[in-house]
Amino acid sequence: MTRVVEVREQAVRLEAAIRNSLVDFSQMTVSVVAVVSDRVVGGRPVVGLGFNSIGRYAQSGMLRDRFIPRLLDADPDALVGDDGELDPGVVRDLVMRNEKPGGHGERSGAVAALEIAVWDLAAKLAGVPLYRLLADRYNDGAYDPSVDVYAAGGYYYPGEDGTDRLVAEMRGYLEEGYTHLKMKIGGASLDEDIERLEAVLELVGDGSRLAVDANGRFDLETAIAYGERMEPYGLRWYEEAGDPLDYALQAELGRHYEPPFATAENLFSHQDVRNLLRYAGLRPEVDLLQMDPGLSYGIVELDRMLDVLRDEGWSPRRVIPHGGHLMALHMAAGMQLGGNESYPGIFQPFGGFGRQHEVVDGAIAISDEPGIGLEHKDELRPVLAELVPEAFA
Ligand SMILES: [Mg+2]
Repeated sequence: MTRVVEVREQAVRLEAAIRNSLVDFSQMTVSVVAVVSDRVVGGRPVVGLGFNSIGRYAQSGMLRDRFIPRLLDADPDALVGDDGELDPGVVRDLVMRNEKPGGHGERSGAVAALEIAVWDLAAKLAGVPLYRLLADRYNDGAYDPSVDVYAAGGYYYPGEDGTDRLVAEMRGYLEEGYTHLKMKIGGASLDEDIERLEAVLELVGDGSRLAVDANGRFDLETAIAYGERMEPYGLRWYEEAGDPLDYALQAELGRHYEPPFATAENLFSHQDVRNLLRYAGLRPEVDLLQMDPGLSYGIVELDRMLDVLRDEGWSPRRVIPHGGHLMALHMAAGMQLGGNESYPGIFQPFGGFGRQHEVVDGAIAISDEPGIGLEHKDELRPVLAELVPEAFA
């Protein structure tokens, strides 16, 4: 049986001089976690690597004070599943002991960083890419050979007016192989945003290839005003128009705007997702859900969310996780979701999936290295090597 001998965490700053309608990303950090095992292959320890999510903050305190000690203090026999090997679901439940229900806040991102690293370790120990492990465990062995991805960008560059840089950025994504794009709205006046939107629509040619994201900024009146102006474009989706927890606002907006909505990146538990599906007026055949396992306790919780979806008449294909995380790309393949977000070029060293994952006609075939493969991403490798040099020696 493999044992965990050490867990390390490091907060790493995002490279991002951009903002959306509400937040500036230049101060943001990510918790990177390494779970070091006692298994040695080729003279190096087998190490699970993970991080939480891009576009929030590191949770070093919670990880170091609560969750990592709970894992390290546990009896190693208490961390294994039925197959006698380290089990991410068992680990997740164990580190959540002594935590009250509800109020998920940032705790869910701390647990996610640790759980994702344990998944990476479990897949490496099994000698398979994560998506195969997920397919076997959650999906009767079925998986998608490639995953549809869309390029999320189109942020506001502080101090710059006009649409030239926006259009150049979006053109770059199309040249990289992406076919579907997303841009921000709500950080300028409605008229300016429509000008930005039309500039990008001219580039992509068809509203069904472009989504917009308001990041939860609008009140009902503003959300409806944007909806009325945008409806003729037939956009792929209108994301987080109002506060992510204001289900009444979402339900009312749905009476004024017909094309698809997307939301749920800020719901961190299956209980929250259940409430969304019950009370926000979303349509199982039309709308999209963007829960991010990196923000919401990890993959086990996402599986519980999928159970809620099925109970409420939704297909897992309606889920396109937020966050541009390589782990979520594996999840989309191995649990047969609807696709995954991508942040090509932005939010380094975490954004994008690495050179080994070429985008062809808007989709990616995941490479077959065991685990998640974060260490094969050129920008991320030095960060990981600094955290756990003995695994890279
Ligand atoms: Mg969003």
